[in-house]
Amino acid sequence: MTPDELTLADLPIRDDLRGRTPYGAPQIDVPVRLNTNENPYPPSPELVGDLAEEVRRGAGELNRYPDRDASALRADLADYLGHGLDASRVWAANGSNEVLQQILQAFGGYGRTALGFEPSYSMHPIITTGTSTEWIGGAREDDFSLDPAKAAAAVEEHRPDIVFLTSPNNPTGTALPLETIARVLEAAPGMVVVDEAYAEFAREGTPSALSLLPSHPRLIVTRTMSKAFAMAGTRLGYLAAHPAVIEALLLVRLPYHLSTLTQAAARVALRHRVELLGTVDALRRERDATVEWLRGQGLTVADSDANFVLFGRFPERRAVWEGLLERGVLIREVGPPEWLRVSIGTGEEMAAFRAAMEGVL
Ligand SMILES: *Cc1c(COP(=O)(O)O)cnc(C)c1O
Repeated sequence: MTPDELTLADLPIRDDLRGRTPYGAPQIDVPVRLNTNENPYPPSPELVGDLAEEVRRGAGELNRYPDRDASALRADLADYLGHGLDASRVWAANGSNEVLQQILQAFGGYGRTALGFEPSYSMHPIITTGTSTEWIGGAREDDFSLDPAKAAAAVEEHRPDIVFLTSPNNPTGTALPLETIARVLEAAPGMVVVDEAYAEFAREGTPSALSLLPSHPRLIVTRTMSKAFAMAGTRLGYLAAHPAVIEALLLVRLPYHLSTLTQAAARVALRHRVELLGTVDALRRERDATVEWLRGQGLTVADSDANFVLFGRFPERRAVWEGLLERGVLIREVGPPEWLRVSIGTGEEMAAFRAAMEGVL
């Protein structure tokens, strides 16, 4: 065989990775991109200026490694989260995906299992199996909610080392009541991760699992700056947990994993949080209007506490997705068969989505 003929299958790759497909939300350059749940509003010129200034300052020290423990950033994140947290109870990495991977590396691995309730975030099983942990898919109700008794029973049956709860859930938008999380915590023999990537978009009065931390040392709450914070390009995710959990993560993290520039950018974003989170209300309103409009078209729409909406049902969802793409609108073919997910964009982008939908329907 010549090097030109070599394919992935010819490499001595791990057996458990053979035949797998990588994460692959299409990145297509079209006018209206509503497929990866980003915040559609770019940073203001003031924020960009502040960021450039901090990057300039940091650039003068790039011969040195960054602060390995990201202490200042973690203190800022703790301050943002509130709930009496401090830097010893907060950890950060390159996106919450890296945070999740570190959790799996420390608490999962070969011979161990992780359980999540599907449909949910596609990266949970991908990161699970990528760390040689076995994935167990639990079920949701028809309306995508979780029945607390059934969820606890699934945990008792499988006794997973890690349980994933996602609230609000992606791709369905479903938020979990605290009682459900508490029931799962009581049943779980190992760690419970509540992925709160979309927490800021939840309706007023939706409690965060952060409030359960003081009484549950095996609880980990993950967050990200990629969604409400409008900083997806920065790659900054974080978590809150007992200090002992963070000690466990230090055993698996790569030294200096968060670059000087990432730490600086994230701290600038936190300083500008009033501006950045100022778009959340508008996005919530646009979300609620989108749900109403889609229902008005006779479609089935899942209740959403996030910045996206899952709707259906289309026996040929691929054709609907393609029809929208032909009209310059990219949404996501994800979730159960017959459903599609649209991220909430600006008012103009949602008008373009509605017009394209009318064309397709
Ligand atoms: C988008 C998303 C993330 C965020 O990933 P980052 O690596 O922080 O960009 C995490 N969890 C869920 C459920 C998500 O939808």
